[in-house]
Amino acid sequence: MKKILLIGTGGTIASEVTDSGLAPELTTEQLLSHLPAVSDICHADCVQLLNLDSTNMTPAHWLEIASCIRKNYSRYDGFVITHGTDTMAYTAAALSYLVQGSPKPIVLTGAQKPIGFDSTDSKVNLTDAFRCAAADLPGVSIVFNGRVILGTRARKTRSKSFQAFSSINHPELAVLRDGVLLRYIRQDCGQAPVFYDRLDPKVALLKLVPGAGREAADFLLERNDALIIESFGVGGLPEAGGFYDCVRHWMEAGKIVVLTTQVASEGSDLGVYHVGYRLKSDLGVLEAYDMTTEAVVAKLMWILGRTRDRAEVERLFYTPVARDILWLGM
Ligand code: ASP
Repeated sequence: MKKILLIGTGGTIASEVTDSGLAPELTTEQLLSHLPAVSDICHADCVQLLNLDSTNMTPAHWLEIASCIRKNYSRYDGFVITHGTDTMAYTAAALSYLVQGSPKPIVLTGAQKPIGFDSTDSKVNLTDAFRCAAADLPGVSIVFNGRVILGTRARKTRSKSFQAFSSINHPELAVLRDGVLLRYIRQDCGQAPVFYDRLDPKVALLKLVPGAGREAADFLLERNDALIIESFGVGGLPEAGGFYDCVRHWMEAGKIVVLTTQVASEGSDLGVYHVGYRLKSDLGVLEAYDMTTEAVVAKLMWILGRTRDRAEVERLFYTPVARDILWLGM
């Protein structure tokens, strides 16, 4: 029987009702006690690593989770991480960079309703996560509401209903129907994973609104090593407002600027319109193409934890990791 390590980090799945709203309180052992049938799927051990609402999750916690996987990697066949849904997509992306090419499954799951509620998605999600962790499903994924989504491609797209996550610009890896795993895509993996243990958390994100000037970008670029700008459509920056001078100034000062889009699907293509073209040709900004914003955030933190050399940053940024970027322009 496969041996799976359940790593608890908190979230709604482990929450109870308190005077001031839902708060994660259940231990991983208590979570598991709700699911006696898991013992038919695998042998599960528990680690209580954190007990946080995932709103409180930070890059330092991502490193803790990766280090827990690393320490236990040889002793288990797979890993289930219970996690709040709010920032699960960021953690899944971060783990995809911190633990690369894993032949063993690393499965994140959580729920929109606590495991102790009469109506809850916790039990099916957690049981499905164990099924996936005990299957041949290499790499990092999110298992939620019967879908298996690649760790670099997930986004929380619904704040309340059980169908909380979508796979962005990439098909789902698999689905689970009545507990049966139907796998469509098998992620590539190595013989053994490559672990990384450094992140640079100084990565900021700015969502543009029509009429915005450069002030917010200046503020963020002064205090961070990289700025991701979520602009409009396939990408560009307003010609008024001093953005071009702002980007030039901070890039000369060694900062990294990445353009992406606010549009939910299909990604950026900066060369298409005049408002984006010069950003690439003259200024040399990077663009996300079909990467999710969550993946761009985590990838930049991982890259800048390794190097500050601009050419190397660019090379790593456009090198696919766990199928995070597939469309690299024409
Ligand atoms: N606020 C919760 C969290 O992210 C939401 C959830 O788990 O669904 O921890």
